[in-house]
Amino acid sequence: MKELIVMKFGGTSVADPEKIQRAADRAIAKRKAGHPVVVVVSAPGEMTDELIALARRVAPEPDSRELDMLMATGEQVGISLFAIACRARGVPAVSLTGPQAGILADEAHTKARIVEIKPRKVHEELARGNIVTVAGFQGLNPHRDIATLGRGGSDLTAVALAAALKAGHCEIYTDVHGVYTADPRVVPEARLIERISYDEMLELAGAGAQVMQARSIEVAKKFGVPIRVAHAFDVHSKGTWITGEVSSMEEAVVTGVALDRNQVKVTIRDVPDKPGMAAEIFVAMGKADVNVDMIIQSAAHGSVNDISFTVHKDDHANAVKALAQVQKRLKTGPIEHNVNVSKVSVVGVGMRSHSGVAGKMFKNLADNRVNIEMIATSEIKISCVVDRTDGDRALRCLHKVFGLDKKP
Ligand code: ASP
Ligand code: MG
Repeated sequence: MKELIVMKFGGTSVADPEKIQRAADRAIAKRKAGHPVVVVVSAPGEMTDELIALARRVAPEPDSRELDMLMATGEQVGISLFAIACRARGVPAVSLTGPQAGILADEAHTKARIVEIKPRKVHEELARGNIVTVAGFQGLNPHRDIATLGRGGSDLTAVALAAALKAGHCEIYTDVHGVYTADPRVVPEARLIERISYDEMLELAGAGAQVMQARSIEVAKKFGVPIRVAHAFDVHSKGTWITGEVSSMEEAVVTGVALDRNQVKVTIRDVPDKPGMAAEIFVAMGKADVNVDMIIQSAAHGSVNDISFTVHKDDHANAVKALAQVQKRLKTGPIEHNVNVSKVSVVGVGMRSHSGVAGKMFKNLADNRVNIEMIATSEIKISCVVDRTDGDRALRCLHKVFGLDKKP
């Protein structure tokens, strides 16, 4: 028997009956080539968004347990139709919900984590010769309720299942050809990346690249699951491999650039300059479930500091609420919110061994009259917050200056 393969089809790849049939054909081809096949399917098309909108029409802030119950139905539409398509082609297939497949999650409704997978039933159905389709994005929580895994969570289901089933690799089928050096909609010269490391992919995802859910990459790295991202319907699509680091990756200093338009910059003026203030602010953000990205604190002027940070726009309302309390408690100055910002980032493992990348990036932005409002770095990433209107231009010029438009 050949190695088991987990294939995942995203919502756009199963958006209508014809696409479901074509996706099923791809799974069937793999099965006929001798691989046991598990297919993780997302909710067709925009179904998840539509279900959320529907719930909000019933109640503006729907209860999260019930919202999970509702959202999980989208993936059930996907898996059953996929199995129906396989069977109609004479190929045995069976669909399983996340709970049936043994996917156990924690209690955080709408953003649960996978705690464990007990895939007994998946193995049983594979042993019967079935293609097994598994609902992405859902698991069973400790109260035996359905919990969803955060938006884009089908990627996580696929990668975690691949790890639990010891699959040879995980194939992510989508509406693009793989991972690009930049978003081709903004940078027409962007090229497909043949191979990228988990760390680079994680940084790119955190920097706004939308190819895969970031948490799924973390799991792939932890368990060493190789991922191939490819176009769902172009069989000639070579795709991109996401794997551990290989030595040839060292050659390029920058592997990709990304733009994130979903950040809001928050500045708290006149925070008393004494121990514990930053702790108060960011513990409060944590309690309010707000993910904080970049943080800078100015040098003290008089007996106060300014502290700026960025949050995801979806967390902004929660941040505003929590900050009102913080402001009162710490007696800070005014709080400013700037929604007209974007974050541009350059990412590459080559930065570990090359110096001067930051200088080159800042010089290039300056030459293109882009003002930098905030800077943050990691070992393999440099990010700058810039004015929203400069974002696209900044991305294009950085792509060029780091030579990403040329073949390596
Ligand atoms: N259907 C879910 C979403 O739209 C999960 C996924 O697509 O991966 O977020
Ligand atoms: Mg989706």
